[in-house]
Amino acid sequence: MNYDMLLLRFGEFTLKGKNRNRFEKSVLQHIRSVLKPYPRVRIIREYGRSLVELNGESPVELIGVLRKVFGLVSISPVRVCPSELDPIISTAVTMMGQQAITDNTTFKVNARRVWKAFPHSSQEMNHLVGSPLLRTYPELKVKVKQPDIELRVEIREKETYLYYEVIPASGGYPLGTNGRAMLLLSGGIDSPVAGWSAMRRGLEIECVHFYSFPYTSQLAKEKVMELARLLSGYSGQIKLHLVPFTDVQTSFVGIGQENLIITFMRRAMLRIASLLAEREGALAIVTGDSLGQVASQTLPSMNVIGRATELPILRPLVTMDKNDIIQLAQDIGTFETSILPYEDCCTLFVPKSPTTNPNLNIVERTEASLIQLPALIQAAVEQTESIIIKPDMQLSDLGRGDAQNVVNEDWF
Ligand code: ATP
Ligand code: MG
Repeated sequence: MNYDMLLLRFGEFTLKGKNRNRFEKSVLQHIRSVLKPYPRVRIIREYGRSLVELNGESPVELIGVLRKVFGLVSISPVRVCPSELDPIISTAVTMMGQQAITDNTTFKVNARRVWKAFPHSSQEMNHLVGSPLLRTYPELKVKVKQPDIELRVEIREKETYLYYEVIPASGGYPLGTNGRAMLLLSGGIDSPVAGWSAMRRGLEIECVHFYSFPYTSQLAKEKVMELARLLSGYSGQIKLHLVPFTDVQTSFVGIGQENLIITFMRRAMLRIASLLAEREGALAIVTGDSLGQVASQTLPSMNVIGRATELPILRPLVTMDKNDIIQLAQDIGTFETSILPYEDCCTLFVPKSPTTNPNLNIVERTEASLIQLPALIQAAVEQTESIIIKPDMQLSDLGRGDAQNVVNEDWF
């Protein structure tokens, strides 16, 4: 079916009084940026929605791109015809013919006469369009409440729009309209999903990744860059901070508190991320923690770890089940990359039985006794490499079978 336009519906933010204009501007800016590679399209701004004239571009391809735009709730492909009865009816008949109609298929016509000089009222149009449809497709039945197919006919002065498909899009708030946060991005399944969820709530995300050369490989770093690249598909671009963590991490080894190592590492990560947040003007930290998943994600652990920063820690996945997280990872396209083998700095030096109930006093006292720790944290911030990642970047040969992960397991 040849469509002429896409109708884009904006989300819940349209309800919010004075922010509305700002939100609409952001979502339109985002739409414009994802449609840049399609020079033929023309974007028309309307109240609470937007229309994209295709001018020959592929509707399927554009819908794929636009579905990623936060703040858009749904997309309808539209047929355009002259605002006269005959072409409206024949377009409606053609469109209905695209549907697999069975004996049980129900429909209604929902006409709206925006152009008041059009000779038939909305109500009349429902019948004038509905009757020939019933004649052409005798299996069809009219149903007013929740029909299978609701054919909308929007009659305007210049032309008439017809559409019935409603394709769900990402929803949420337009990108960046709720401020900026730092995402702790590992190479696992959870943190990319947490990042996407935060972005969907209107947060602009900068990623922070901790790596421990030579204990974690170049490949692990590239994997995280690839995950950041996938996330950038939702935002146009994304900043990734790569933090050298080896010196901080090794300072916790051999101090007689092996089962607290993860707690120390996590707290150090939060301190470093907070310093980066301050530098970048971010007001929160986002993690992929999910309650009870591992030792560092019990409530007592979250409590002791979280006290290392004054910034709010947002944990979008905190109450989600792993299966649901995996489903989301698949939907947003990060799963396949996340499951590639890699070694996280947190899985190095991990004790046999990491504590699930760390004692805040002991943790704080031990940290205070590590007099070099603040300087190591400062140095890690200073040596952080920050890169901008864009969706079309070619990053690596991830997934190639011959790549080697080098981990020295005999480190102790
Ligand atoms: P993920 O799948 O996101 O790695 P996980 O269930 O494996 O999560 P952990 O490895 O315990 O859990 O990590 C918990 C959270 O800590 C991660 O979701 C991430 O936000 C953060 N994190 C862990 N390792 C790193 C790292 N190397 N760099 C940045 N953040 C990290
Ligand atoms: Mg992990």
